[in-house]
Amino acid sequence: MEACYDVAIIGAGIAGSAVSKLLSDKGWKTLLLDRRMFPRHKVCGEFLSPEALSMLEGLGVKPEIEARSPAILTKARLVPAQGEAVEIPLPGPAWGLSRYALDPILQRAAVQAGTELHTGMTVADVQAGDGICSIAARSRNGSVSLQARTVIYACGSREGNQPAGEAPTYMGVKAHMAGLAPSGAVELYFFPGGYLGLNEVEGGVFNAAALIHPRAFEGTEGTVFSLLREAARRNPQLEERLAHAEWLPGTASACFPVRLSRRPVFWNRFAQVGDAALLLPPLCGDGMSVALRSALICAGLADRFLAGESTVEDWQTRYTEAMSSQIRRPLRWGNRLHAASERTLLPAVLFRLAGVSPWLASSLLKATRLKDFADG
Ligand SMILES: Cc1cc2nc3c(=O)[nH]c(=O)nc-3n(C[C@H](O)[C@H](O)[C@H](O)COP(=O)(O)OP(=O)(O)OC[C@H]3O[C@@H](n4cnc5c(N)ncnc54)[C@H](O)[C@@H]3O)c2cc1C
Repeated sequence: MEACYDVAIIGAGIAGSAVSKLLSDKGWKTLLLDRRMFPRHKVCGEFLSPEALSMLEGLGVKPEIEARSPAILTKARLVPAQGEAVEIPLPGPAWGLSRYALDPILQRAAVQAGTELHTGMTVADVQAGDGICSIAARSRNGSVSLQARTVIYACGSREGNQPAGEAPTYMGVKAHMAGLAPSGAVELYFFPGGYLGLNEVEGGVFNAAALIHPRAFEGTEGTVFSLLREAARRNPQLEERLAHAEWLPGTASACFPVRLSRRPVFWNRFAQVGDAALLLPPLCGDGMSVALRSALICAGLADRFLAGESTVEDWQTRYTEAMSSQIRRPLRWGNRLHAASERTLLPAVLFRLAGVSPWLASSLLKATRLKDFADG
């Protein structure tokens, strides 16, 4: 390992790999660390919105994604626990691709650009000194101490950004399955205690990802497959859809807690990108696009700082302002849709809207998107 890097990025998910690639492209000596080994399955709907796709194209990785034959999704199908389903056209074609495939594609792009990637390495502590940050990390081979001029946190949603308080916390679960007929839709099933997104990914496989209130699932065996089966039992149309599904072993994953009430924090001693900065309700299916957008904005400002063209204070102010204005609308509308889904109002509202005008219902979904893409 090098004696001193220009920038160390903690977390090699979507946001961290993207910011690493962009800074390596600029010629900075970039270190990317992740505690996990890749590829790995991760809780995510694996729905790549048109906005996310556009940014992935900008990063130059769309051909590699295309080579994996992602599923093409053109509509959203919302299915209440009781009553009729509603179909809404998506603002543009979206893709279904597993995180098992996507994250390594972005990591490879970063490494090809010059990033030094170390997986299986957990960062335990970061100390900011006089122009140099000291990073304490540990791997299976022992502890290491690293140095970098600056650090960017891309470590996903972590505890500690905000006290839990009384706000409800959720649990995310996901698994892949085979044996389902293609629908060309991202299917959202609502049930007492949460909702589940189902869509095809590459290779004819389907991904089911659910956000659930753990308390509403008390008494259910704590495995991912049991929780997903119990969710299906609470929505007859989902149960019917999954009747002949074959759950694929080794694809299950879970995350807890998922705190949607968390305030966005774009700077916590260092810049924070992706879920480390904010959580968009998963219902919007746009967390990856926000992660990519934060990476793009942060990389531009980090480049100026590293080149000596701006101060760290300037970086912090501009980054916080830019991201706050970008996410205001998606966060507001995303939280409203999530709250409506909690009261089982969402499918009813969208059903009525779609009856009056599919364009109006589609516009409501667009309001949860990042601005310039939503308006474009
Ligand atoms: C149920 C659910 C469904 C979702 N569905 C969708 C969807 O369909 N579409 C969409 O766009 N978004 C969706 N999202 C959101 C999306 O998954 C996230 O927004 C996205 O993963 C954020 O990427 P990230 O790079 O910020 O974080 P992550 O992908 O979580 O990456 C963070 C990385 O940091 C590493 N790390 C953490 N701590 C350390 C440490 N101390 N040292 C070293 N490494 C560390 C982790 O191992 C991890 O690999 C969903 C989320 C949930 C919960």
